[in-house]
Amino acid sequence: MSTAHSADHSADHTAARERLAALPADTRVAVVTGASSGIGEATARELARLGFHVVVGARRRNRLDALAAEIDGTALPLDVTDEASCAAFCAAIPRLHVLVNNAGGAKGTTSVMDASEEQWRWMWETNVLGTLRMVRGLMPTLVETGDGLVVTITSIAAIEAYDNGSGYTSAKHAQAVLHRTMRGEFLGQPVRFTEIAPGMVDTEFSLVRFDGDAAKAENVYRGLTPMVAEDVAEIVGFVASRPSHVNLDQIVVKPRDQHSAMRAHRAEA
Ligand code: NAP
Repeated sequence: MSTAHSADHSADHTAARERLAALPADTRVAVVTGASSGIGEATARELARLGFHVVVGARRRNRLDALAAEIDGTALPLDVTDEASCAAFCAAIPRLHVLVNNAGGAKGTTSVMDASEEQWRWMWETNVLGTLRMVRGLMPTLVETGDGLVVTITSIAAIEAYDNGSGYTSAKHAQAVLHRTMRGEFLGQPVRFTEIAPGMVDTEFSLVRFDGDAAKAENVYRGLTPMVAEDVAEIVGFVASRPSHVNLDQIVVKPRDQHSAMRAHRAEA
């Protein structure tokens, strides 16, 4: 199944590799995973605005194609839970300056006692193993370029534990520790590591978490002004445009009305 998946798209990968190899030598290249919506989509636009050639990856190909056409980037199919898909994607990138590990999300809100192993597996596969696969596939290229940057979009769920969120908080903690470990393991090499840990951002995140239930998703942002995807994208753009001796290690960003995962000020209707 995995092999068939990568073979299906081999012509895309070859074409992408040739296109990237033919870019002018001073064009900086960025990869954004999970670029078909939300933070990833906005980040791809922001990095393109800053002059990067952006390679966008996700499963919803039609959205990626539209975005790549808009920003003059390259769209490639990517399922970060599929080893073969990640390997084929990474092999198509001949040089790379910025990797944004953004693909991820949450499924459900349940107590530990009611935890669904299927939901946990989805969250760990996507957020943790997905990030592991992409960094393992792309670190050699990032280092070889001589000025690499890895931005990982974790969450305040990577810093706090909150009731009924253990599948997501544990996955985001693990993703963050993976990212922070690499900061040490690559010390002395020409690559920077920035973790961005957002609070509430109004994207498709809650819709995915609540399995398409729009009323439940909207309730998450009730009575407050959440951040929008562009708020986080602009921060990625800021990080990616610092001089290469400057490493922003960790950035925590929340809406003004959000104190922490379990505490927010909400205006009464
Ligand atoms: P979103 O709109 O749901 O975007 C999630 C992106 O991840 C989509 O492009 C989706 O694309 C992609 N994705 C999911 N599974 C994937 C897979 N197996 N392979 C490849 N791509 C996959 O949500 P978002 O808020 O922008 O989320 C982006 C990141 O920010 C996530 O890591 C999330 O945990 C984190 N975050 C979000 C918030 C928030 O409040 N929104 C707060 C803190 C952190 P496809 O479905 O097309 O594959």
